[in-house]
Amino acid sequence: MIYTDNRLLSVGLVGGTCSRHYGNMRDISAQNNVYKALNIPPEKILHFHQTHSDTIISITSAQEAAQFAALPEQDADAWLFTAPGWGAAIQTADCVPLFLFDEHGHAFALAHCGWRGVVNRLPFKTACALKNTGRCGKIFGWLGPHIQVCCFEVQADVAAQFSPSSLHRKDGKIFVNLNLEILGQLKEAGVNPLDIKTPYYCTCGDEKNFFSWRRDHVRQNLLSFIYKP
Ligand SMILES: [Zn+2]
Repeated sequence: MIYTDNRLLSVGLVGGTCSRHYGNMRDISAQNNVYKALNIPPEKILHFHQTHSDTIISITSAQEAAQFAALPEQDADAWLFTAPGWGAAIQTADCVPLFLFDEHGHAFALAHCGWRGVVNRLPFKTACALKNTGRCGKIFGWLGPHIQVCCFEVQADVAAQFSPSSLHRKDGKIFVNLNLEILGQLKEAGVNPLDIKTPYYCTCGDEKNFFSWRRDHVRQNLLSFIYKP
């Protein structure tokens, strides 16, 4: 199935996160099958090389998107669009696919937020970039399936990089709640937390539906995509 937020469709966007049944998305032909099933032209979906950074690529026109598509893949971890006709994909296997979009569908973003990206404040920076386009009404957000607090145990050195309020301690172990950390950053960027949906789909805990690097240590990725016709 494709997990999604109904508000994407209501503002004219097509997007979501595919369950593992669609295949390993490191294989581009598996991605193309998804796009074709949804009437998305595969050549209108942009890709980058994910590096757990805080780099955002901004696409402001169809011409710019076409130029970008002709280049080798750039290093980056978030997309920001203010032009229709194009979209982008990211791949995850525990990291958070963060969807941010404005109430009119004029501006939309998709960020690959691993814990390093979250520590680098990529959610905050992506929300600020979206606001700074000047094309934004109210911002909605949706966090696709990722590793949840139930499974995201970390050591003290990683835990120290998060807000104490985003940590959960149990039986001498420390767990990170990425949802809380991301919600905090989005609120700081001026987004109303009530407009952010954080459904509890755990990639690590649900083997039937999701790939998980933490669980399997196999290079198999889920696809998240966003597109405006
Ligand atoms: Zn879990």
